[in-house]
Amino acid sequence: MLGWSDFAEKQPLASKIIINSILKERLSHAYLIQGERGTGKKTFATLLAMTLFCENRDRENPCHTCHACRRIQSRNHPDVHWIEPDGATIKNEQIDYLRKEFAFSGVESTRKVYVINHAETLTTHAANRLLKFLEEPNITSTAILLTEQGQVILPTIRSRCQMLDLQPLNEGAFQEELLQVTADGVEIKEAQLKLLTSLTTNVDEAIAMHQAGQVYEIQKLVKELFHILATRYEERFLFIHDRWLPTLADKEAQALGLELLLLACRDIVHAQVGSGQSLSFFEKEDAVLQAMIEGFSNRRLVHMLKRILDAKQKWAQHVHPTLVVEQLILQF
Ligand SMILES: [Zn+2]
Repeated sequence: MLGWSDFAEKQPLASKIIINSILKERLSHAYLIQGERGTGKKTFATLLAMTLFCENRDRENPCHTCHACRRIQSRNHPDVHWIEPDGATIKNEQIDYLRKEFAFSGVESTRKVYVINHAETLTTHAANRLLKFLEEPNITSTAILLTEQGQVILPTIRSRCQMLDLQPLNEGAFQEELLQVTADGVEIKEAQLKLLTSLTTNVDEAIAMHQAGQVYEIQKLVKELFHILATRYEERFLFIHDRWLPTLADKEAQALGLELLLLACRDIVHAQVGSGQSLSFFEKEDAVLQAMIEGFSNRRLVHMLKRILDAKQKWAQHVHPTLVVEQLILQF
């Protein structure tokens, strides 16, 4: 991962504000980071947490290599908590758990950081509890709320946070940047470019992914799965056991499998309602895409989309991968 100056290339304004606060030691105790998918919200949260805990910070930049930095990057730091929606929402109990955790001072220092991803999914109850939490005079904790829809967040919460807007990602510019780097020798087709751009906004990561090629293998597998759903629905379990599970052998592949399922399902939903949103997984004339649009109602597709989000959540909570996929397929 990169430092604040690299982040500034994509998000100059937000970076300038935060670097200034770091250098003046005037960081807020709560941030609400608003930006579309792919604008770098999680990168921002990780960088800020590393900046706060790094053992060898160089001015505003964390070192990325010390024990604290590495554990934050792998989300294993005991004083940095990530809250993700449990299913469709962030629930009361999740905020309660956080409050209990925070009743004790930090495990390794007196500082604690909590990141609430998809803060717009806080239930009203959970949001009210969070509000009390934000009001508690605890100068050593930093809250970082991430959202794609800041206007949905309760005004009372918003007013207690410093808001930072991340600029929409310039997809064209990123694709161009990617093409520039790949000019010497590496060939990326347009459809591949669209898929890579939907998965990452980091050029190095995109090229590594492209060269490893696994992403395209999994893409093919996801298409096969949808083909089976559309044509031989009763064979879906067989497919999962014969093809999906053996191919997606490690954790990285399993995560990518769920991510691509989500992209594919989103494409189908968008294409069906003619939202005009450009496709990232399918090409317009793909036969599997057409078969899904014709064979599945919009309601059913939206239901599938929700189940995929649930599956991703379960996967993140270390439910056994085989079980996650079996349950998902059962609910399709
Ligand atoms: Zn460090």
